[in-house]
Amino acid sequence: MRLHHLDAGPLRVPGASMVCRVLVIELPDRLVLVDSGFSAADVADPSRLGPSRWFLRPDLRIERTVRAQLAARGLDPETAGDVVLTHADVDHASGIRDFPAARIHLAAAEHRAWAARRTLLDRLRYRPHAFDGVRRLLLHEPGPGRWEGLDGVTDLGDVCPGMRLVPLPGHTDGHAGVVIDGRGGLRVIHTGDAAHSQLALTSGRTAADVRFRQALLAHDRAALTSTRRRLERLLARRPELRMVASHSTDDLRPGESLEA
Ligand SMILES: [Zn+2]
Repeated sequence: MRLHHLDAGPLRVPGASMVCRVLVIELPDRLVLVDSGFSAADVADPSRLGPSRWFLRPDLRIERTVRAQLAARGLDPETAGDVVLTHADVDHASGIRDFPAARIHLAAAEHRAWAARRTLLDRLRYRPHAFDGVRRLLLHEPGPGRWEGLDGVTDLGDVCPGMRLVPLPGHTDGHAGVVIDGRGGLRVIHTGDAAHSQLALTSGRTAADVRFRQALLAHDRAALTSTRRRLERLLARRPELRMVASHSTDDLRPGESLEA
């Protein structure tokens, strides 16, 4: 098992330029993606991304799409059988359109939040057509499992050995993290937009502009704070765990890949 990371960004948000991380898990016979960046259709017509494009200001180019980056690395995009989404924001979920044959995995709570689009923030962040054309959408209710003190864990071992979906709510209602904790020795938790980075959590220091954006985009600030506390405890207990966050370069060096 080999884990690559791609940058589907950069996102040029006010005051910063951020990566937009997509994980690629290379299994012997297929690829599994965590999040999906933007699609070729978004490059052709950026208005598909709705109003949040004015905040995110993604650098939309065909060569930055995940599909193109896989091919450029010699990985066959046709073998991407599963895409696991941390949540349904446009910078995470829009790229699924480029993988029509893949199974798309999402927390059921996130799909309900997307479908309802109850608040102004939800109407700005979620696109009505987000799941059009998806043939196999697998919605996961919180599972009965526990993993390292986290509840509601769903086993995704059939997607990738050692993979679990863990509810990490706050940024969005159904936001989830993806754990890869297999026997092969690769110990990773992708925390999506639940926290800025492992360094930010373990040092207790998050830059003011990052804190501002986190608060601005939070569906539920109290839930986000509680999620962050649970992640801090997890990282203190499992220092060997590598955390990967969607928009930070603190955690993975450019070009670094992890192997087990
Ligand atoms: Zn994001």
